[in-house]
Amino acid sequence: MVGQRRFQLGDVAILNRDHVKIRDPGKVEHMLNELVAGGIGKLQVVTDFDYTITKQRLENGEKILTSFGMFNECKSLPEYVLEETKRLFHKYRPIEIDPHMPLDEKVVYMIEWWSKTGDLLKGFPLPQEEIAEVAKRFKDGLRDGTHQMFFDLNQLEVPCLVFSAGLGDSVVSVLRQANVMYPNVKVISNFLQYSSDGTLNGLQDKMIHTFNKNETALKGTEYYDLVHDRDHVIVMGDSLGDAGMADGIPSSSYVLKIGFLFDHPEQNLPRYMETFDIVLIDDQTMDVPRAILEMIKNKSHQ
Ligand SMILES: [Mg+2]
Repeated sequence: MVGQRRFQLGDVAILNRDHVKIRDPGKVEHMLNELVAGGIGKLQVVTDFDYTITKQRLENGEKILTSFGMFNECKSLPEYVLEETKRLFHKYRPIEIDPHMPLDEKVVYMIEWWSKTGDLLKGFPLPQEEIAEVAKRFKDGLRDGTHQMFFDLNQLEVPCLVFSAGLGDSVVSVLRQANVMYPNVKVISNFLQYSSDGTLNGLQDKMIHTFNKNETALKGTEYYDLVHDRDHVIVMGDSLGDAGMADGIPSSSYVLKIGFLFDHPEQNLPRYMETFDIVLIDDQTMDVPRAILEMIKNKSHQ
């Protein structure tokens, strides 16, 4: 369908809502047409977990914990670990979000932060059931429509990569509790490592921190072979860095980036609009990605 425009953005009702912000409508329109033309067989989804699959706010005002935050609720976690975790957060978090520090400098600090976290998580028992117990409390904290979307992606055999610089054990546990950990879902994250006596022994290798969170981390894995020729990608995230998650996919032709913006929208909107193709302001649903998936699916079934 080269040169032939199948639909215009104006035809896609959901993209014309007030809270949907698009910097370059022509580009998004072109990309959507290409994604639809390419069909389901060329598609993969790459998504962040914390505040992307989980909601940014709950109706009852309760706070949703991050994957590491959930881990910190486990009752076997020694008090000194909690205290040190807090200290590290106060030291490194400002660096992570510093708008002025160059990226290569930040990376050094992030590796330091994640390594120190790994070193802390050693020498005490922490049964996985405790993580499951906490995760159970948050299984309903997923964005509205997440269940349906994961169900559809599995039915359509579209690979879905959940990419998290958080704690993979919590991520997997929440997805399991919510019954969306389908065979097409792969979680790349930081996972706990256990010694043979059942005590914790830090984090498994291949640290995923905020700034190496892209598909280069997949090289040499089975998943990479599975998805490397699916060059149409829907990327979803809530942090600016999430927009680069598909960077390691070779010759990815069309990467449609959807950003969920919640904090200080007036102040952050310009940067989000530069970084993501579609920005959704305080949208606690999967309605937009689902509508796009639906368009691609309908075309594929014609
Ligand atoms: Mg996030």
